[in-house]
Amino acid sequence: MESKITQHSAKPRISAKNASIATVLVGPQKDRFHIHKDLLTHYSPFFRAALSGNFKEAEEHTVTLPEECPKTFEYFVHWLYNQRLPDEDDATEFHEQWSSPTDDGEMKTGSLIHLYVLCDKYSIPQLKIAATNELFDHVHRSTEPTNLPEPEHVEFAFSQLDEKSGLCRFLVDMYCFWGDMEQWDALRDAEFPKPFLFKVLSQYSTVACGGPQYPEAGIFVCKYHEHKTGREQHDCSRTSWG
Ligand SMILES: [Zn+2]
Repeated sequence: MESKITQHSAKPRISAKNASIATVLVGPQKDRFHIHKDLLTHYSPFFRAALSGNFKEAEEHTVTLPEECPKTFEYFVHWLYNQRLPDEDDATEFHEQWSSPTDDGEMKTGSLIHLYVLCDKYSIPQLKIAATNELFDHVHRSTEPTNLPEPEHVEFAFSQLDEKSGLCRFLVDMYCFWGDMEQWDALRDAEFPKPFLFKVLSQYSTVACGGPQYPEAGIFVCKYHEHKTGREQHDCSRTSWG
């Protein structure tokens, strides 16, 4: 099923007359999102399974996600219709909940980490890669000074994802690459998850024992993509420096 989702598969014709609309109820208040069903099921095997077959959800064209954050879900809906992440061209109120121009990038980092976790949970591989690329550029490649991801976001990622996931590995690499003594000192009282600290420590000790010195060339975005096949990795447009 996964292999059917490729960048080359035809996009659904949502402009067609009488297109089916699905409803997704998100968060404790059951915020309603009305989305073209073909669009939702094209990009997510989770929604494809939920909205087809004999499930109650399929009959009612409705999926309920009470534990998800409506803000994060809206970023997914925005991507479905626009095939890009939020930017300055979007409605001001929407863009301001995604990113703040005055906080050294922290809000945007948090938005991307939450979006990545949503993609992981509901199998949305193409958006997961887009979020990874944006996070990589934002934290590692930015020309503006960007702070390291906040400890609370590291905690969130490690509580929701496998520690071998692309995002968890990226967070460890970013702290090892950019974290200097001054930053670690400022984070003295921060609550980091134990598996995260263990990974950081283990990478630092490798360096201390004469291992790789974190050369810049060792950090490239495709390392964090979680491609399903060698072919997909081979076709990735950001396999090295990109
Ligand atoms: Zn890749």
